[in-house]
Amino acid sequence: MKIRINQKTELQLPDNATAKDAAERMNLTAPDQAIAVTVNGTPRDFSWPLKNGDEVIFSSFDDALGKEVFWHTSAHVLAQAVKRLWPQAKPTIGPAIENGFYYDFANLSISEADFDRIEKEVEAVIAENYKPQRLEFPNKKEAKEAFKDNPYKCELIDSFAEEPISAYSQGEFTDLCRGPHLSNLGKIKAFKVMKNSGAYWRGDSNREMLTRIYGISFPDKKRLKDYLQMLEEAKKRDHKILGPELDLFSIKEEGPGMPFFHPRGMIIWNRLLEFLRAFLQEAGYIEIKTPIMLSKELWERSGHWYYYRDNMYVTQIENREFAIKPMNCPGCMLYYRTHSHSYRELPMRVAEIGHVHRFEASGALNGLFRVRGFHQDDAHIFILPEQIRSEIIHILNLTDRVYSVFGLPYKLELSTRPEKSMGTDADWELATSSLKGALDDRGHSYRINAGDGAFYGPKIDIHIRDTLGRFWQCGTIQLDMSLPEKFSLEYIDRDGMHKRPVMLHRTLFGSVERFFGILIEHFAGKFPLWMSPYQIRILSVADRHNDYAHALAKLIRQSGFVVDVDDSNESVGKKVRTAQMLKTNYILTVGDKELENKTAALRTRDNVVHGEIDISNFLAKVVKERDARSLMSPFSIDART
Ligand SMILES: [Zn+2]
Ligand SMILES: [Zn+2]
Repeated sequence: MKIRINQKTELQLPDNATAKDAAERMNLTAPDQAIAVTVNGTPRDFSWPLKNGDEVIFSSFDDALGKEVFWHTSAHVLAQAVKRLWPQAKPTIGPAIENGFYYDFANLSISEADFDRIEKEVEAVIAENYKPQRLEFPNKKEAKEAFKDNPYKCELIDSFAEEPISAYSQGEFTDLCRGPHLSNLGKIKAFKVMKNSGAYWRGDSNREMLTRIYGISFPDKKRLKDYLQMLEEAKKRDHKILGPELDLFSIKEEGPGMPFFHPRGMIIWNRLLEFLRAFLQEAGYIEIKTPIMLSKELWERSGHWYYYRDNMYVTQIENREFAIKPMNCPGCMLYYRTHSHSYRELPMRVAEIGHVHRFEASGALNGLFRVRGFHQDDAHIFILPEQIRSEIIHILNLTDRVYSVFGLPYKLELSTRPEKSMGTDADWELATSSLKGALDDRGHSYRINAGDGAFYGPKIDIHIRDTLGRFWQCGTIQLDMSLPEKFSLEYIDRDGMHKRPVMLHRTLFGSVERFFGILIEHFAGKFPLWMSPYQIRILSVADRHNDYAHALAKLIRQSGFVVDVDDSNESVGKKVRTAQMLKTNYILTVGDKELENKTAALRTRDNVVHGEIDISNFLAKVVKERDARSLMSPFSIDART
């Protein structure tokens, strides 16, 4: 038989070959080549028998699916080890998560002191190098018989929609599971228990409290070491610590998930949005602002009332129901309908930095990363069908320019038509090939997530990479065949006919709040000069220098800088430390000599000491640095060499 591998290579195989045979024939056996496999779009075990014409795609540990299978398999190993140490423990569920996995156990009580023991037992299980075997129970009754001593598994089995029901066994341990898994446990070369916590069974606070154990694993020891190091570094940069330290924002009990931005935080906020608006204006966007609260009828029309209501804040006024917007889109549709439009107006690029609210469970809230109220830097772009490709290129170019200002490299992912979707085959074909064509044109590599698009159209997701190597999905470009239909949007074409425009949703920062948090961690609070909330600080050596310090501050403020004066009675050393703790870009000290010469002594936040400098010279350089939105200071060590 003949199969196709990774969407390019054709491979001839004997009739009874499995995915594992294909991987071996292709020499794809290392974890950075093949950890997981999909056959015709469905994730499978490596023992899966292949058929003529199958599309086989291998994922490495660096792919999302590779990590998921790796970590999911590791969760089973954790459960097996826990059962060996605490035979009375009842395993419940154990999914892979963004970084690693967890497993929840009933009848188990452990503490951090047990982590070592668990890790040793995990090592012992892995050393036995089992190959997980798939079992199938034809119906729920037989599956429940097999798991009769575990009421949690029985409850899960009852909740399943489909039969047969599968389980996997490795050595003495069998677990209810859909799969797929690693082909053998020996691929897990590094394993660490990260923490434990309590968690309710099925997330329901009326049910029993279980013990959750978090872990992470890797195909080699170096990756684990790097990961732990990254966590250490991330802790130092945590925006939830740096934010309050730098007095940028706070979150209060009275508004869970709804941040307060402080004056220094507003400096960053305003710089970010000024920057964004300048770019958008240059790129031909117009901007609107639509109400934060709109009637139920609108949300019914957009579909949010049916599909998104659990995440919306609703209220009643004059016997009419309203909802606070979770998305900006429907408001923009109403704006488009205000006027009639000609084909000549398209592309029509309508931006809105709208304040949206989405309910998130209190347990899920996380600083600025996961909030209930945030600003989305949205735009809705109305185009002719033949403009899809050029408009996508236009957005990708804008994206590239915006992220490069922050020194953020990124990767692109194209998600294609899912099983359940609206629109005709021809619509999807045009949309998908236009998105793909645009990506190919730009020459930036991208990966395809087959079947992962929205039901209303294909999309491109943009994941930025911060200085710690962590990826964050911020930007997205989504083609929408649904909303223009639901809101009967039209334009008048060359031939005088009324036609439906194609619409794109796109964001660059995504959530401005979240992007703000990412930037705090990316820069470790040391913002580039143009967006820094502490640009210049003048320190007086003694009281007699205070007047000069304030006069100098006044002079520098005329060039538009944020300037603080520290005229307290502290020692100069202490004042310098305070300024550096606030990550102040430039620290100017004034004493007798500087007062006499009308100069200042300069040092940077990284303690590069320049000594006495000429003020106008200094100003010329920093104005240039700020206006160019430079990532590098002309006074840093690197810049001096
Ligand atoms: Zn499993
Ligand atoms: Zn939208």
